Amino acid sequence: MTEHTLTVAGVAVDTRHWIGGERVASADTFTDVSPIDGSALGEIARGGPAEAAAAVAAAKAAFPGWAATPRAERARILHAVADGVEKRIEELAIVETTDNGALLRSHRRGVMPRVAHNFRFFADWLLTLDHDDFATRGHTNHVSWDPAGPSVLITPWNAPLMLATWKVAPALAAGNTVVLKPAEWSPLTASLLADIAAEAGLPAGVLNVVQGYGAEIGDALTSHPDVRRISFTGSVPTAQRIAASAAPRLTPLSLELGGKSPLLVFADADLDLAVDLAVEQYDNAGQVCLAATRLLVEESVAEEFTRRFVDKATRLRQGDPRDETTDIGPNIHPRQLEKIDGFVRRALAAGARAVIGGHPKDGQYYAPTLLTEVAQDSEIVQEEVFGPVLTLQTFATEDEAVALANDTRFGLAATLATGDRERAERVGAQLVAGTVWINCFFVRDLQAPFGGSRHSGVGREGGTWSFDFYCDLKNTVTAP
Ligand code: NAD
Repeated sequence: MTEHTLTVAGVAVDTRHWIGGERVASADTFTDVSPIDGSALGEIARGGPAEAAAAVAAAKAAFPGWAATPRAERARILHAVADGVEKRIEELAIVETTDNGALLRSHRRGVMPRVAHNFRFFADWLLTLDHDDFATRGHTNHVSWDPAGPSVLITPWNAPLMLATWKVAPALAAGNTVVLKPAEWSPLTASLLADIAAEAGLPAGVLNVVQGYGAEIGDALTSHPDVRRISFTGSVPTAQRIAASAAPRLTPLSLELGGKSPLLVFADADLDLAVDLAVEQYDNAGQVCLAATRLLVEESVAEEFTRRFVDKATRLRQGDPRDETTDIGPNIHPRQLEKIDGFVRRALAAGARAVIGGHPKDGQYYAPTLLTEVAQDSEIVQEEVFGPVLTLQTFATEDEAVALANDTRFGLAATLATGDRERAERVGAQLVAGTVWINCFFVRDLQAPFGGSRHSGVGREGGTWSFDFYCDLKNTVTAP
């Protein structure tokens, strides 16, 4: 361990920025704390405007070379990055779990393999990107996907490396260079990614990683004149600030934001499946943007549904996320825990009833909570809690179910449990959501468009939609 390295379970992580192919320290640092036990993991470089400027300059300098690199070579290097991720899955998994408290078993078997897949998928998709030439009065139209330039990617802490690489991979595939700023509550795996990318042969300056607190470094990144794209995943207030910062230069934005998604359970549903889907919403201690936190259940089955839900939810094991048998780990930060508890206390004061939970536990854990007797216009139904807190409301008719489902300012996802295919299609068509799941949840294909409506986001990423965003599309018209 050196001055600029910290060690997590034997894995050394460089705590400095990665700019232009070199490690760069900052005069200031911030302490990275593990949510598992509140222990300090080490001091991380705390970047500001100077580091932002240096990283964008490095990305700008590397851009012409990377943009001119043949597609096949870019794809080859991205596959080499995926190889590097696969070789280090165990290390990435334990570092991420220690840093953000999410389950080790899901990092090992789901998340980190998906990180590698992000690189493989966009490398392969790049090679399929094409558009047939077409004619206009004898003239030929040729559409090309030109790399847009240096791209700033800003990501949250709830699934740090997965969400970062969901942006890094298509941006690099498109021929853009990148400045990645991970969240200050989970800075570590982005630093490991910089090592892996360098080992895979990604040229210096093509991927830069800067660390620091949101606005302190973020404003300088999002207002920078040399930045051609900004892709952000995080909360609505931060998105509004980033949009304002980018506005004078009209820098194109992709925004993947919060949600308050519904799970609609109809009386004709397989109730065991519906209960499984509902209990799944506690995954990652409720820190999932897509979580269907509003359970909307048809009156006639509400009692039976609740009975089975409570039976299953109370058997979830809460504890150390490194333990293979744990189902729910800690929440990320004491501030987040306070926020969650504040939502619940205000809901209870307003007349809600806690069927289960409703309180914090020792350490940074919050009891899985189900609240009933909540009003549609109440804060707990309208606002994203981002913790293991679900509400349950009932409905009498399909129309009422749709009206309740659509009645928030969000529109990220919606899940339906029903045994009637025609109903599924009819209801699904009326829901305002970027993704609708019918009798399933969290099934994601990277070629599908992903994003949210209303305050859940602007734009879509995934497959060709990612390249639409990261490229400047050009039509060249040639006379006969
Ligand atoms: P956040 O908005 O507080 O922070 C996200 C990132 O933005 C962090 O890296 C932070 O440092 C940075 N940031 C903060 N202020 C900034 C500024 N002024 N300029 C530039 N960057 C700035 O969000 P969070 O609490 O880290 O994440 C939770 C939120 O993210 C929830 O609302 C959740 O729903 C949402 N989310 C959405 C998706 C999706 O795909 N739609 C996925 C995961 C999380």
